[in-house]
Amino acid sequence: MQTIYDLNLKELEEVLAGYGQKPYRAKQIYAWLYRKRAASFREMSDLPAQLISRFEEDYSMMNIREKDRQIARDETTKFLFELEDGAFVEAVLMHFHFGDSLCISSQIGCNMGCTFCASGLLKKQRNMTAGEMVQEVLYVQRELDKDGKRVDNIVIMGTGEPFDNYDNVMNFCRIVNSGLGLAIGARHITISTCGLVPAIRRFAAEHVQYNLAISLHAPDNELRSRLMPVNRAYPLEELMKALRDYSEENHRRLTFEYILLHGVNDSDEHARKLAKLIRGMNAYVNLIPYNQVEENEYRSASDKDALRFYDVLMKNGVKATLRQKHGDDIDAACGQLRARHERNRNQL
Ligand code: SAH
Repeated sequence: MQTIYDLNLKELEEVLAGYGQKPYRAKQIYAWLYRKRAASFREMSDLPAQLISRFEEDYSMMNIREKDRQIARDETTKFLFELEDGAFVEAVLMHFHFGDSLCISSQIGCNMGCTFCASGLLKKQRNMTAGEMVQEVLYVQRELDKDGKRVDNIVIMGTGEPFDNYDNVMNFCRIVNSGLGLAIGARHITISTCGLVPAIRRFAAEHVQYNLAISLHAPDNELRSRLMPVNRAYPLEELMKALRDYSEENHRRLTFEYILLHGVNDSDEHARKLAKLIRGMNAYVNLIPYNQVEENEYRSASDKDALRFYDVLMKNGVKATLRQKHGDDIDAACGQLRARHERNRNQL
């Protein structure tokens, strides 16, 4: 059964029209779902009983369940959810001085095959629906309600390639962004892509205000293709051209994510090449410590090497941030907690 969380406001109005109801009811229902965080249709006390029954017949409410939770020393919290069909997905809540950020998944598994990533160990089984992604946020928001806090930022950087699930991801953004609902500002929502050029061009043409982050991880085609097979389909020249066009048309700053892998992409030469690649763009580089996973040989660059890399970028006129590690005492790497549960499940 479809969940009510799959519907954006316009779609909800259309459903209501089909029920012979006035469109304003959609706003009422949105307030119940996202402002009052109702757990059932029954609670929606200002709706006619008949309408409540109708919704109960046609739509489910929450259909994701928490299966596990890990809390790190720094209070980074990883949630493992089970979806209606038994699939597992992860979401990670991180606390920053600028607010609480929730990292959500967008697909069950991933087909992009980045060699360093634990998510890709499980091939894509399916896309997540908009409603499932909305529920990741709503579930965590309800937890934060207990402390009077809110999900301030959403990053779509969990398992999956959001631009390989374009329509659902954009609909998800629309729903959580709605001023009548959770009202998470567009500039507080970040979509991270490995570089699917046609989708970047489509995104650019929509002129929406969501932030765009690109997983770069290498400054030349040879290395990038080795780390990220997607680069063979969309090499750096095409990717950078699409990004420059996006940035100029939309007047938006881009974020480049760059994981520092010891002995792989962390030399001074790599830093200089990277600086050259993005020179003149309205962009900055987010240097990310690598969360080591058992399944491969990659190791994180040392703090010293990370600082050196950062310095070379700065000297070459590139703005960069060196991200702190979060939750490295739990299974915080993308797909790690889920991979562990899948292994356990297979052993049963
Ligand atoms: N498919 C999208 C979003 C999911 S991955 C993308 O590629 O951007 C989110 C980010 O986490 C990407 O930058 C990815 O390269 C990075 N990542 C994957 N595995 C990681 C690990 N073990 N440690 C640190 N970052 C990792």
